[in-house]
Amino acid sequence: MLSHGEAYALIETPADGLDDLLARAGEVRDRGRGRTVTFSKKVFVPLTTLCRDYCGYCTFRRDPGEPGAHTMTPDEVVALVQAGQRLGAKEALFSLGDKPEARFAVHRDFLRRHGHRTTLQYLRAICELTLRESSLLPHVNPGVMSERDLAALREVSVSMGLMLESVSSRLLGPGLAHDNAPDKVPARRLRTIELAGKLQIPFTTGILIGIGEVPRERVDALCAIRDLHERHGHVQEVIIQNFRAKPRIPMHGQPEPTLDDVLRTLAVARLVLGPDVNIQAPPNLTPGVYPRLLAAGLNDWGGISPLTIDHINPEAPWPLIPELRRATESLGYTFRERLALYPEYATRPEFLAERLRPRVGALIDADGLVKEAHEHWRAW
Ligand code: SF4
Repeated sequence: MLSHGEAYALIETPADGLDDLLARAGEVRDRGRGRTVTFSKKVFVPLTTLCRDYCGYCTFRRDPGEPGAHTMTPDEVVALVQAGQRLGAKEALFSLGDKPEARFAVHRDFLRRHGHRTTLQYLRAICELTLRESSLLPHVNPGVMSERDLAALREVSVSMGLMLESVSSRLLGPGLAHDNAPDKVPARRLRTIELAGKLQIPFTTGILIGIGEVPRERVDALCAIRDLHERHGHVQEVIIQNFRAKPRIPMHGQPEPTLDDVLRTLAVARLVLGPDVNIQAPPNLTPGVYPRLLAAGLNDWGGISPLTIDHINPEAPWPLIPELRRATESLGYTFRERLALYPEYATRPEFLAERLRPRVGALIDADGLVKEAHEHWRAW
């Protein structure tokens, strides 16, 4: 296991040492995860674009009245997830702003009209509806949650997520990425991930690089994730996401991380987190360099939607699944579809609400991956 200090040294690896670092990370990945690289076929459901936070890099959030400000109705969600089902998607990824009811009366009115007081209660009802009206399995990504919220959502979703992003409280300072983002206080996010562990919820988290942190702060965040996973064994996936500059965000002038920087961070993540943890880098955010990303130690391409755009990075189209498959297989890896919960959690009943076990069991093979008969993309 790499020490915190060793990771500090590796995150500063110069360009001429990068290939050696990647080789080391790739070897560790092969030792734990073998040569199988996975993805999840999903539909992205932007339940509400309203959010009480104002992160400097966010292009997703809106204030009421702005173009694109919208909270989806139950009918809109059902239409979307059923369209996804027809295309063979298995995952409904619910991504939404954090606690908009705390800031916007119009959103409180919307929730009241639908019989709810909080966005998380509405989300729970929408997940129930999704399970009733489609075959998709919800994965929820709604921001900071209390223990009660997590427990309620556990009954209607197969996994949850919250990007840790950073453990640097510095970024809450004036003019920085998390100025005016109360839900980005690192301690609050660490607490949510910890509570999810206590409740045995398969959990996705990760770091966002290039938002003003220094390299050592990335290591601090990765070590914090490692500590949580060592305590609870519930971190099913760690995403290394790179900041992308966009015209309408406050941080539009901030330089994006270089490819070397992405690769170095991915490799250090693999070495910090060890051979068994699932590590993902979104392929649409670093397109055209799949071999380099694979070499750096990832073993998952994340959720790919055949229907909806990446609402968080709308300028970055998803790769086509056949294109990703070709790139993966041409490098000697096996390309397989997984569910919104990873195989090692799909096969452990304590990590899944009892009512959801039959639905998951019907979709997976003995390895916990999607049965080949359900991998509709193979026919393309
Ligand atoms: S990144 Fe998330 S929490 Fe921050 S403003 Fe956007 S939607 Fe809100």
